[in-house]
Amino acid sequence: MKKPVNLAEILVEQMVEEQLAKRTGMCSCDICKADIMAVALNHLPPRYTNTDKGGLYVRAGILDSQLSTDLLVEVSKAIEHIKNNPRHKPNV
Ligand SMILES: [Zn+2]
Repeated sequence: MKKPVNLAEILVEQMVEEQLAKRTGMCSCDICKADIMAVALNHLPPRYTNTDKGGLYVRAGILDSQLSTDLLVEVSKAIEHIKNNPRHKPNV
């Protein structure tokens, strides 16, 4: 059986990568990325879909604008939060 995927998870991951690429002074190690994703996803409703649909949805870039706005807001807040409270020591 194919398991449903959380579209929000896929989209947040993409957006975290995009936003980190644009920012300087933000650690982009795997620990911080995972923490940013966790913080953002905890503030966003899950969007479960089946794998095939999810893949199409993501590839086509069909996002409703409210969802993409919400994602950007939460990802930006999460980045600031982790930047100020990294789980590891600075510069590690
Ligand atoms: Zn880090």
